[in-house]
Amino acid sequence: MSLYCGIACRRKPFWCYRLLSTYVTKTRYLFELKEDNDACKKAQQTGAFYLFHGLAPLLQKSEHQYLPPKYNLAELERLLGKFGQDAQRIEDSVLIGCSENHEAWFALNLNSSSSTNASLQKLEMERELQGSFTELRKALFWLNVKDASLLSTAQALLRWHEAHQFCSRCGQPTKKNVAGSKRVCPASKSIYYPQMAPVVITLVSDGTRCLLARQSSFPKGMYSALAGFCDIGESLEEAVRREVAEEVGLEVERLQYSASQHWPFPNSSLMIACHATVKPGQTEIQVNLRELEAADWFSHDEVVTALRRNDPYTQQQNGTVPFWLPPKLAIAHHLIKEWVEKPTCSTLPA
Ligand SMILES: [Zn+2]
Repeated sequence: MSLYCGIACRRKPFWCYRLLSTYVTKTRYLFELKEDNDACKKAQQTGAFYLFHGLAPLLQKSEHQYLPPKYNLAELERLLGKFGQDAQRIEDSVLIGCSENHEAWFALNLNSSSSTNASLQKLEMERELQGSFTELRKALFWLNVKDASLLSTAQALLRWHEAHQFCSRCGQPTKKNVAGSKRVCPASKSIYYPQMAPVVITLVSDGTRCLLARQSSFPKGMYSALAGFCDIGESLEEAVRREVAEEVGLEVERLQYSASQHWPFPNSSLMIACHATVKPGQTEIQVNLRELEAADWFSHDEVVTALRRNDPYTQQQNGTVPFWLPPKLAIAHHLIKEWVEKPTCSTLPA
């Protein structure tokens, strides 16, 4: 952030000042809401609530787009009454952000059960709310980037709270703070903060080709960059070298960080994307079949063609599915596109 602002300052000092000022003010406001329960309760009075059911966000279709509706506190209380739920349920909501005018945004999961009764109740709620609770994996394709990011954060946080109801030290129930930025065990005084698991995602190149692989769980024909969870105690660099060695039997010579992305599935990961190179003479792949179904080198032209392929499910005349790449919202897509567009990615400096 400081680098971005530094660059912006040299170009547009006035706007940069305003941008920085708004950002810092907003960040400090959210910090205050996380630390101060009374301030957060007060923010709920003027705030807005996004609704989930079974961790699926409520979406409404308007014209050609899908939007997640927001409700103020009075509307939410009325709806909870209508759905036969206690207004105290609002205490389960979590803070997920705020507008530039400091309207605090919260998310509330109306029901986490998957029973038949819950399904019927869900249909009634959808009728009343004139929308549908949509699985987040689908919703991400339909929403704009800002809403997609906000709802991913919300789902990740709501899921974390569902899974951390009890203290892992003494087994007693834990209690969330109003914002939902932590849970505390009143018995042992243990404090738990929401966590993400770091995952390295690496596009390996030998200078002219890039290495793509598939797991058996991938949709038919889809190949992606190598990915794996960081082991405890590892640096990012160590995780990349180990994953590449483990999965395809190659030794990374150089690596370069590219970008990162929060990924809510299945349990909130921080995807850290890197480019890596191996020595041109040492490119023989040995696939670890416990981890991967297949891995191969692909030429620049093959990757360019795959990136242009709009309908990955179109079968070729002989019945095979052509090789295709992860969709635009996945960081693997960004990494592969970067490799195609920047030849420097394949000849990283030492
Ligand atoms: Zn405890």
